[in-house]
Amino acid sequence: MPLLDESLGHDLAKHPSQTLFGDLQDGEKILDGHSRMAADEVDDPVMGTSQPVFGENGVGPGGEVAVGEIQHLDPFAQIGVAQEQGIRSACYVSHIDIYDEPVYRDKGLQRQAAEIPPSQRGAMAELIPFDDRDGTIWFDGRLIDWRDARVHVLTHGLHYASSVFEGERCYGGRIFHAREHGERLLRSANIMGFDLPYSIETLEAARYEVLRANGIVDGYVRPVAWRGSEMMGVSAQQNTIHVAIAAWEWPSYFSEEARMRGIRLAISDWRRPAPDTAPVHAKAAGLYMICTLAKHKAEREGFDDALMYDYRGFLAEATGANLFLVIDDKIHTPTPDCFLDGITRRSVIALAQRQGIEVVERHLTDDDLGQATEVFITGTAAEVTPVGQIGDRHFQPGRICRTLMQDFDAEVRRG
Ligand code: PMP
Repeated sequence: MPLLDESLGHDLAKHPSQTLFGDLQDGEKILDGHSRMAADEVDDPVMGTSQPVFGENGVGPGGEVAVGEIQHLDPFAQIGVAQEQGIRSACYVSHIDIYDEPVYRDKGLQRQAAEIPPSQRGAMAELIPFDDRDGTIWFDGRLIDWRDARVHVLTHGLHYASSVFEGERCYGGRIFHAREHGERLLRSANIMGFDLPYSIETLEAARYEVLRANGIVDGYVRPVAWRGSEMMGVSAQQNTIHVAIAAWEWPSYFSEEARMRGIRLAISDWRRPAPDTAPVHAKAAGLYMICTLAKHKAEREGFDDALMYDYRGFLAEATGANLFLVIDDKIHTPTPDCFLDGITRRSVIALAQRQGIEVVERHLTDDDLGQATEVFITGTAAEVTPVGQIGDRHFQPGRICRTLMQDFDAEVRRG
């Protein structure tokens, strides 16, 4: 991570895309740097960026860059821009991508983007692949170089999804609800029929070791456990259980106002399965198969995420976060009987109750959605994220969203 000049670092954290790319508001203003014609009207358009190429290794990009092609941003800038633009899981690669969908639509740049090979395309590509970064990963009991943390192609976890994981956030050097995440990892493994070869205490110490080794104060922690390679049939009773823990920077820069605009959820055709169809209470890799399908479809249709119903037709959750509705100043949330009872969910319920807001846990239907005045989702990654739209229904995030976002922010920072 380069050392930033303090004021530039501050500007970048507050207004990442403006600091890097200037004050572009829409596609109209993306002009080819030489002809000054709209970028979609010339072949191989280029644009200049505003000045900052700061730091020894650069925050970049600077100078002249090709529109619609992959640009390398420093991870710090990448995270800042991603969060500012409300793209949570991916990062950027081109000037066009950060200006998102309407730009493609308005200026015909969608066609141009479609011509970029998929492997290099827009917000779908991670700027720096996760297997090619500097740092250290805890792997089966010891810290090893990030790039050496590999598994063999003949690994049971890869073929049959015999893998469980956690997603945790570290705020100011402290992992939020570390113990609960540790317990859930063990429980998930047990539900999947295996024991972890390390104690909760060892795994908790290992997480902090990883954070320290990588110099991370505000970040995301990803423990994962999987069945190894001794047996490659469906049965794998003798396989070694492997455990790894990685962590990466993930500061929270998103302003409250930006979050209050709310995200847009598509309605997924995929349903959360019944408890006798899948191990629904484990954070097990296989359950994310339908989440990725649902989220990809939602993103292709211009939404941020998807709302999934359950096998009975009740409202369930988003692809990686729990759901809350505000009806008549009370909070209603689906009973988590066929999906994860999120750790953030439970924290937010406690915060709401502390505010004297009644929380009702029950089966929710489409009619309830029709009556909701505010909607939000919660999760380790999502934190408390207001929802502005579900399918063709619109919601206006309001007082309760704002209160819980503020209370949650205060809660995670409490030492
Ligand atoms: N549901 C799913 C499917 C998830 O992946 C997550 C994130 N772990 C959640 C809910 C929220 O859980 P938590 O608040 O524990 O992160």
